[in-house]
Parts: sequence; C-alpha cells; structure tokens
Amino acid sequence: MTAQLNIGEVVETVRGVVGVADSVALHEPEFTGNEKKYLNDCIDSTFVSSVGGFVDRFEAMLCKHTGSGHAVACVNGTAALQIALQLAGVGANDEVIVPALTFVATANSVSFLGAVPHFVDSESRTLGLDAKALAERLDAVGEQGSNGVRNVQTGRRIAAIVPVHAFGHPADLAGLMEVAEAWNIPVVEDATESLGTLYRNRHTGTFGLLSALSFNGNKIITTGGGGAILTSDHELARRAKHITTTAKLPHRWAFDHDEIGYNFRLPNLNAALGCAQLEQLDDFVKRKRRLAGRYRAAFSHVPGIKVFAEPEGARSNYWLNALLLDESEADRRDELLGALNDAGVMSRPAWTLLHELSMYRECPRGFLGVAEGLARRIVNVPSSARLGHA
Ligand SMILES: *Cc1c(COP(=O)(O)O)cnc(C)c1O
Repeated sequence: MTAQLNIGEVVETVRGVVGVADSVALHEPEFTGNEKKYLNDCIDSTFVSSVGGFVDRFEAMLCKHTGSGHAVACVNGTAALQIALQLAGVGANDEVIVPALTFVATANSVSFLGAVPHFVDSESRTLGLDAKALAERLDAVGEQGSNGVRNVQTGRRIAAIVPVHAFGHPADLAGLMEVAEAWNIPVVEDATESLGTLYRNRHTGTFGLLSALSFNGNKIITTGGGGAILTSDHELARRAKHITTTAKLPHRWAFDHDEIGYNFRLPNLNAALGCAQLEQLDDFVKRKRRLAGRYRAAFSHVPGIKVFAEPEGARSNYWLNALLLDESEADRRDELLGALNDAGVMSRPAWTLLHELSMYRECPRGFLGVAEGLARRIVNVPSSARLGHA
C-alpha cells in the first residue's frame, strides 16, 4: 500500500519553510527600496496624474527588463488585456481561445469587447494551455476562410489565442505558437503573473503579437493597481497609447479626438511606485526562486503531495507556489486548506474554473478534463519574496 497524505505533516512542512512565528499571508508586497523617495518626488512635481516623467521612465524600464520593443502603461492588467485583444483584431461576436484554469479577468477582457471566450484544456506539465488540445480543437471545429478561422459549430470567427502563464510558469510557447502560426491566428499572452519569467531565455510576454502585464497589489511587483501592454510592433504600440489615453490628438490647446478612446492610462503616482519596484525585480525573483527551492526540498519526502516545479526550458518567477495533491488524495484538498488556514498559513485553491462560473457556462469549449483534475488538486501556499531571505 502506498503511504497516504498526512495533513498534520503537510502543515508542519509548510510551517518549517515559512517560519513558525505568526500568521503568514499568501502574498505581500515589499516597499524597502526607493518607493517613498519617488512618491515624494512625484508629489513635489505636482504631476501626479495622467502626465509626468515617471510613466515614461517606467515604460522604458519595462522594455529593458523584458526585452520588449515597446511598453504602454495602463490602469490595470485587465484593461491592458482588453486593449491588447482589440488591437489584435478581436471584435464583437468573435471567439477567443482561453484556458479554463485562470483568473476570471482573462475571460472578462474578451467579454468587454463583445466577444466570447472559447475554453481549451490545460496541461499538467505547465499548468497552461495545452498545444496538443488546441490543435485538436481547431482541427475539430476550425475552418479556414477568407475572413480568418471560423468555428463551424457556432459560425463565429476565432480571432485570437490567449495563453496564460499561470502562477508565473510559462505555457508551452513553442508548441502554442506553432499551432497559432499554422492557423494564422494572433496570440495575445496573458503575462500578468509572469513578470521576471523567462522561456528559453526570452521574457514571457514577448512571444505573442501583444501581451499584458499586471502590477496589482498581489503580483510580483506592484504599482498599487496597474498594468502594461507589451508589443514589438511600433504601430500597435502607438495605437495602444492612443486608445488608452482617450484618443486625443496632440495639440497645444485643442481637444480633438479621432475615435472612441478609454481613460486607461496609469497615473504618474503609480508609475513612481512602479519604478522603485522594478529596480528590485531581480532581487524579488531571486528570493522567490530560493523559497520555491525550499518548498521543493522540504516536500521531497512527504507522501501524497508534491510541489509544482517550473517546466523544462523555463526560468519561472514562482509568483505563487502550488502544492499538487496526488490524484488519489484530491478529495482531501479542503481538509488541507482548513488545517493550513487554521494554523495561520494563508492558503487557497486554484480559481474556480471559468466554464463553471454562471456567466461562462454556455461558452464553447473542448474537453477540459486536465484542467478539472488540476483544479481539484492545487493548493497555493505563502509565496512572498521576504519568505525567501538568505
Ligand atoms: C491579475 C491577473 C489579471 C488582471 O490584472 P489586474 O491588474 O488585476 O486587472 C489577468 N489575468 C490573470 C491571470 C491575473 O492573474
């Protein structure tokens, strides 16, 4: 008989990694760099809102860190994703392929454009969209036409594919890009969790036509709230800036706008915070990787459970560490969550799968058995950078 999961042992093991002193949050921001200095400089300049030097500086720093040609700062990651999809050509009544195992904003950004999410399965190796499942789904329902790929079951155009780098682990970008290129469907990466993550030595978010980053309070760096669109295409970057800043035509005094634009810009105050945070990104990644290594070592001999490790070819930021219960122990997930939270160790399951949410129940979808299996077995445990101190 194989050894069974011992809940007490798991709690003790997590406690051994994160410390036993007090209660431990799932993910805390850290402001020990130039945050206060830059915020003061920003306030002193009086440019706290929609224009100012910190926005430009933050965008330039993002380009340098990611290797992206362009970065356009936005009010949050959801807005960045919405505009990235719009610029990739997604419009009303289109379909966009997304995983079911992701945060709800991935699908919401599709819905905001009047388009419909179409769910495809994830894979255990990466926790991201499965290239093989994508290819099979497109073979089953896709038809190449003059206007792009049509879903023969719904009659709608399949206008984009959105891989999500879940918990900071890169999806199988090589496999997914190959399928997307074969079908000539644009890829927009949801890189909101993967700032600092490399795939084959190249930064996630630089593979698709466009991508979205997030700097929400729980992400690896934070601007309070914020996001960015990345692209290497100069014209798309120009359009992204234009649409997110009310589509105003530059002029010394006239207020003219040439299309319906959004007020999705990132305030200079938030960008000031972002500059200070980005200076520390490499250090955050280093400590988060050290913490992940400690989880992995500590759990190497605990039966019934393992620590999710970065896929081959990846250097992950380990934004959120995930424990993965063995299949045979999946029905004890909530018992484990209860025990961890009772012990002051904040832990949570993966997101409720998107096709199980009331507003997305009727959406088109392929077989989602792998995502369903993973969702039943994942437990996210405390992952703040400070827990990975030397
Ligand atoms: C955080 C997140 C978003 C949205 O970012 P916000 O800045 O919170 O709007 C989108 N997708 C995923 C997978 C996320 O984790």
